[in-house]
Amino acid sequence: MESFFSDGSLLIFIVGACVGSFLNVCIVRMPKGQSVVFPRSRCACGAPIPFYRNIPIVSWMALRGKAACCKRRISPMYIIVEAMTAILFVALWKVNEPSLFIAYAVFVSIGIVASAIDLSSMEIPDSLSIGLLIAGFVFSFNPLLHDATTHLLSLKDAFFGACMASGLLLWIAIFAEYAFKQEALGGGDIKWIAGLGAFLGPKGALFALFGGATWGCAILLPLLVYSAFKKDKKLTLLSRVPFGPFLTLGALTYLFFHERIDIYFSALDSLTYLY
Ligand SMILES: [Zn+2]
Repeated sequence: MESFFSDGSLLIFIVGACVGSFLNVCIVRMPKGQSVVFPRSRCACGAPIPFYRNIPIVSWMALRGKAACCKRRISPMYIIVEAMTAILFVALWKVNEPSLFIAYAVFVSIGIVASAIDLSSMEIPDSLSIGLLIAGFVFSFNPLLHDATTHLLSLKDAFFGACMASGLLLWIAIFAEYAFKQEALGGGDIKWIAGLGAFLGPKGALFALFGGATWGCAILLPLLVYSAFKKDKKLTLLSRVPFGPFLTLGALTYLFFHERIDIYFSALDSLTYLY
């Protein structure tokens, strides 16, 4: 606990909670095509929210999830996103040196917004996929991002990561559509994984895809069984489920455990000579 205060983690936690608060604004406003900067936050009843009732995490708990002006219920999404961003920022801070921390903090922030929007609207805005792709290439100028020895090799990893993952997913989508006679994967997922690949390189992108599918099964199968027992038909085998959040979960798994995961990739090392 001592190191939480001495290594800057507390400050990073507060910064993360504030960033999370801004991510909530993006999650709510981006699908409506509204500006994420103006106007200031207002309650659904129209009353402006004073700054002291807009403190990340703390305000939601103090108000117990009810607006002070009109007692409307405030979605738990707000505190979940704020707490999740803060915790992930601290976790990234603890295991990465500062330049990598900034790159991954941007990655996680865009990932949270895209996943939340995909969960609610089954769509990832192009601005987020393209933004993640560009950010991935910009941060790849730092060779540390891909454990590379030179800037050029690092950019090569970003390029192959982006192309390989989206190419592979595109072909999976083509075959799936042919086999099931309906669209199984959206173009949004293909654009999204290109951005993940630019950050994580070819191995990370491959892991995001298959790790993401594994996360999807691990989370959805129990829900499917539960739904079948309850006979509520909320989730059936024919339900459309967003893939973006699972791809992002796979990418995060690689981000935190890549040293262990890369050991398994060494078995495939002969493949890496191909590029
Ligand atoms: Zn209100």
